[in-house]
Amino acid sequence: MENGAARTAPAVIVAIDGPSGTGKSSTSKAVAAQLRLNYLDTGAQYRAITWWMVANGVDTDDAQAVAAAADKPEILSGTDPENPTITVDGVDVAGPIRTQEVTSKVSAVSAVPEIRTRITELQRAIAAAAVTGIVVEGRDIGTTVLPDADLKIFLTAAAEARAARRSGELKDSDVKATREALIKRDAADSTRKTSPLAKADDAVEVDTTDLTLPQVIECVVTLVEEKRAGK
Ligand code: C5P
Repeated sequence: MENGAARTAPAVIVAIDGPSGTGKSSTSKAVAAQLRLNYLDTGAQYRAITWWMVANGVDTDDAQAVAAAADKPEILSGTDPENPTITVDGVDVAGPIRTQEVTSKVSAVSAVPEIRTRITELQRAIAAAAVTGIVVEGRDIGTTVLPDADLKIFLTAAAEARAARRSGELKDSDVKATREALIKRDAADSTRKTSPLAKADDAVEVDTTDLTLPQVIECVVTLVEEKRAGK
């Protein structure tokens, strides 16, 4: 099968980082589906381990208690971009990890170094197993998890645009509350000691404030195709 091997495109690793509400998940999923790559939502993994801590009565503000439990839950991510899944000890937690309670606690849990070591190992194993390639979205993928990624994108957007996207059809006061919660979470994620939210030096920054989702997707697909052509 020498010829077959030569015809196969090399696996491409795409890292997409940025704060909440920049369209990271929608973009990453769509790009992966369009290019037939796997997809990994690393925020879902941090949410899943946070959900387990809450469900098992671990005080998420107690870093030592969180660290001591870091290896306990089994977290599995399904990487089909058409149907991404997340389970903890075999339980489907796709819904429960999106609750306000988990959202408000995830930054504290994800700041604990033992949690990051554990989840980073899972992420690297998943990326290494992706035969055709993978789009991995998060906060520290380009800087820490996959520093050798073929393409690194850093998505940004004005805080107002991010809050509006997150709150959808909510009334003005809810948008304000969402905006404040987002800013608080981003500040915590950007200032933690271990692999904070940051743009890698070699990442391409895309400001999505005035772009529609299809425009962002097209922009990233073009960047991946250019990278692949130059490989
Ligand atoms: O992307 P999402 O908003 O679901 O991420 C939830 C939280 O998980 C972030 O606010 C951050 O605390 C944490 N996270 C992280 N590193 C990543 C992805 C997410 O610390 N690579």
